[in-house]
Amino acid sequence: MSTPAPKLTVATAWLDGCSGCHMSFLDLDERLMTLVEQVEIVYSPLVDAKTLPAQVDVGILEGSISSEDDLEKARLFRERCAVLISLGDCAVTGNVPAMRNHFKLSEVLDRAYRENVTLQPQIPTRAVPALLTPVKPVHGVVAVDVFIPGCPPSAETIWSILSDVIAGRVPDVSAVTRFGA
Ligand code: SF4
Repeated sequence: MSTPAPKLTVATAWLDGCSGCHMSFLDLDERLMTLVEQVEIVYSPLVDAKTLPAQVDVGILEGSISSEDDLEKARLFRERCAVLISLGDCAVTGNVPAMRNHFKLSEVLDRAYRENVTLQPQIPTRAVPALLTPVKPVHGVVAVDVFIPGCPPSAETIWSILSDVIAGRVPDVSAVTRFGA
């Protein structure tokens, strides 16, 4: 009896995003069962495994690069993932998180932590990763292989493009989605 081929490994992470792109991923619904027959999700907020393996076939990043933690994780994904996918408008363009690029970082911090705060207004210095400025899309800090725009991209779009990537095909992204979809 022949040994089955090893499954492709997939890792996902959300950086500065709202998790909506991961929710759209979960909207694959019953297709998730088909997916897990083809791939093993080795690292993700959706699974228990919380250590990124040294080598991963496909990495998927949601969200923009807004903090030192985001930057570190994006670099680690690029280093360890053979194919890196930017999932959703925040990853692809900066989108909502990048709106703060119109303001000084000090103004943003004041607005969030001092203004309109009644209890202990203060800017945190511990437990919150240091913010970077400007906010950048993922490809602003590492090379990206596949872009999936949309806020969020639909489950159908994710399924179509992921199926192509898993099969080793070059996805025709413009045929299934567009920016702001
Ligand atoms: S692209 Fe839209 S859904 Fe995805 S993380 Fe950003 S705001 Fe949320």
